Amino acid sequence: MTKRCARCKKTKSTDDFRPDRSGRRKDGLHPYCISCKSKENKQWRLDHLDQVKKHRKATRARDRIKETEWRRSHPETLLWRYARNRAKQKCVPFTISVDDVKAVWPQNGLCPVFGFKLENGVGVQRPESPTLDAFIPSLGYIPANICVISYQANVMKTNVSDPRLFERLAEWMKARSESRS
Ligand SMILES: [Zn+2]
Repeated sequence: MTKRCARCKKTKSTDDFRPDRSGRRKDGLHPYCISCKSKENKQWRLDHLDQVKKHRKATRARDRIKETEWRRSHPETLLWRYARNRAKQKCVPFTISVDDVKAVWPQNGLCPVFGFKLENGVGVQRPESPTLDAFIPSLGYIPANICVISYQANVMKTNVSDPRLFERLAEWMKARSESRS
């Protein structure tokens, strides 16, 4: 099947024409061939630069809002993704699924260490942001080794997996503050 382009007047294969969804074309194809149409589009964008820029800006703003909404409603997927990146960087195992993260998410929504409410700071890490911790860091992100704790708790824990170290830290902190008061 062939069709004559209304712009360059060349007869081309119908494959060289994009479908026209306006319903106004009998053959359902655009009257201009693809190359004429893209030239025309390019020219239109050049002639309407302000409009194009405004539209791009609006689209970007809309995308950002959508992205934020998505992040808000998928905290488990986000933690899973961040953990996957960390696992890659640290070369530790990563075998968990998003469902594994959901399975260890505190049902009461509270940080299991400090008891305050876990709150997703979209785009920013806050003390109360949920984080995925590999309890024994070298074992990596395997189902039996992960827990969801607040960023605050995670920062304090860092790579420490021996609780006695925290007891010593707590003792030192107590002793220091007592000697100063
Ligand atoms: Zn043409």
